[in-house]
Amino acid sequence: MTRSPEPKNGVPPELPLTRSEHMRRVRGKNSAAERSLRSALHAEGLRFRLHRRVEGIAADIVFPSPRVAVFVDGCFWHGCPEHATFPKTNKDYWLPKLAENRERDSRQTKRLQTAGWTVFRVWEHECLPPDARVVQRIVVACRVGPLSTRDVGVH
Ligand SMILES: [Zn+2]
Repeated sequence: MTRSPEPKNGVPPELPLTRSEHMRRVRGKNSAAERSLRSALHAEGLRFRLHRRVEGIAADIVFPSPRVAVFVDGCFWHGCPEHATFPKTNKDYWLPKLAENRERDSRQTKRLQTAGWTVFRVWEHECLPPDARVVQRIVVACRVGPLSTRDVGVH
């Protein structure tokens, strides 16, 4: 795959957000989406580790003992089907980048599942506010044990 050169500051120019807003929203740890999901899980009585590496992969929310890993995926960077509105310019930059992200997501999910983890990939938009069904699925997985991700509707 050919890679387009990355802009110097890591943030492509066409987004209507400032660099810091952008980084906070889509890339950073402790994004608003992540914090919102975390507090919903906490309210359910769940306790977890943050930004832990499991099987060499940094997951956002980790439940070590039931082996549940949760990723909060930014709608933009991870290519959410509902919010996939991309700038028309710079396609050469965006398209390969986003395809790469999706491939990496699915590789990481598979690697964790192979190692016996239940993996949830939750869209940013499902966290603001937290989607009750998503929260319940995570609660059940943590209390009941491993589920097939096919049954829990992760993307
Ligand atoms: Zn979305």
